[in-house]
Order: sequence, then C-alpha cells, then structure tokens
Amino acid sequence: PPLHLQRHQFVVDFVRKTKPKKVADLGCGECKLLKQLKFHRSIELLVGVDINGAKIKKHVHGLAPLSTDYLQPTNHQLHVELYQGSVTQRDARLRGFDLVTSMELIEHLTLPDVEHFSSVVFGYMSPASVIISTPNSEFNRLLPGLTGFRNYDHKFEWNRSQFRSWAVKVCLDHGYEVEFTGVGEPPQNQLESVGFCTQIGVFHRLKGSSHGNVLPGSEDEVFSYTSVYSINY
Ligand code: SAM
Repeated sequence: PPLHLQRHQFVVDFVRKTKPKKVADLGCGECKLLKQLKFHRSIELLVGVDINGAKIKKHVHGLAPLSTDYLQPTNHQLHVELYQGSVTQRDARLRGFDLVTSMELIEHLTLPDVEHFSSVVFGYMSPASVIISTPNSEFNRLLPGLTGFRNYDHKFEWNRSQFRSWAVKVCLDHGYEVEFTGVGEPPQNQLESVGFCTQIGVFHRLKGSSHGNVLPGSEDEVFSYTSVYSINY
C-alpha cells in the first residue's frame, strides 16, 4: 500500500491499542487521517491543526457525519474541531490530550521552528503520547531518480541518528521516553543498514513528570489558533 496509508494505519493501530479519548493531528492537511480516526469509538474529541486554513476547508466534507452514521443508535459522542494555526505557537485548547500526532510535518519547518515545535508540543501541550513521522534520508538512495530532497518544500531530511538525537533531547528536556520504528521496509534485508522509508518516534510522557500543570487564567492561557470547523456527532 502507498506510504501515506501505511503511516495512517500505524496511527490507527496505535489508537486501537491505547484507546485515547482526546486526539489531535498537527499538520492535518487534507484531513485524511482524521477521517479514519472519526470511526474509533474511544475518541471523544478529535482536533486537526494546519497552517493552511484553505486546505482544511477544501477537504472538510468527508468529516461531516454521513446520514448512515445516524441509522445505528450509538452512545458514541464525538466532537470534531479544526483549527488554522501554526504548531510553533501555543494554544490552550490543545492541552491535556491523550495523543498528538504529527505526520510528515517537522521537515517542513526551519530548524529554529523545530525548536519552537518541540517546546510547544512536548513542553506546553504535554500530551500522554506523541507520534512523529519524518523521512529517513538514508532510504533516499533506494528511491529511483531522486536527487536532493523528496519534496521541494522540505527544509531538511534527517538520517536515523539525527532524528534520534533530536528525539532524545526532547525527552530529556520535557520528561518523555521514546521508541523508534517506521513504515516502508527496504528490499532484501536492508532494514538494519538503511532503515524504514519513513521513520517514526512514539513518545510517552513519563509518570510523575510535572509538565502540563499550568492553571487556567494564568498567562499561559493563550488562544492563537482560529477555529475553521466545529461539529458534534
Ligand atoms: N499529515 C499529513 C500527512 O501525513 O499526509 C500531511 C503532511 S503535509 C506533507 C504537511 C502539512 O503540514 C501541510 O498540510 C502543511 O500545510 C502543514 N504545515 C506546514 N507548516 C506548518 C505549521 N507551522 N503549522 C501547522 N501546519 C503546518
């Protein structure tokens, strides 16, 4: 299957296993992952954030409830909220989530903005789990005809050790632990030497970590995102 489907399936499998109630997808783009997640009964609040508000609006239709969604009576209450905003900025409505995903986003940020992203996501939003994916540059030589980056808008592509260094520092700074995995296997037993096409870090907040305890009404109560879509199922 295409790589983006494998990435989304990875998140779906994680959701099936861990049953989060509040899930946010940062850089949700065409809302494809959100459209898959809306069927998962554990989720009560599903949030998407993207800097490109027009893109969200254009793809929002599949998120609206289908008439058939109402035929089967269910106790499943789902609230979906989409915001236009930058992951380099804080918004108090994104705090206290069980799971935050950010698939193929960080490589679109400048390195100073990756630092902002790290402190916003891990230090401020401070969710229980975070899933981050980004291209593995070591795999690029297996991609036919590729010269340079995989996409013109990429600001960098990290090898496994660069991704690992960033992730380990984030964990030390903000009280998380991380496991590394990926999707898109290389041919002929090259997994060890090359790695996955897409590298993925799965982060868990450490118990007893004091992050995420800012009181409402404090100066951290900032709202920098703009709501572009909001619906209750
Ligand atoms: N997550 C989707 C996926 O895996 O298919 C889309 C990935 S797409 C390559 C990157 C997305 O990140 C784009 O929709 C882009 O608008 C968004 N983006 C880029 N910079 C951003 C920022 N600073 N804040 C929020 N979203 C951003």
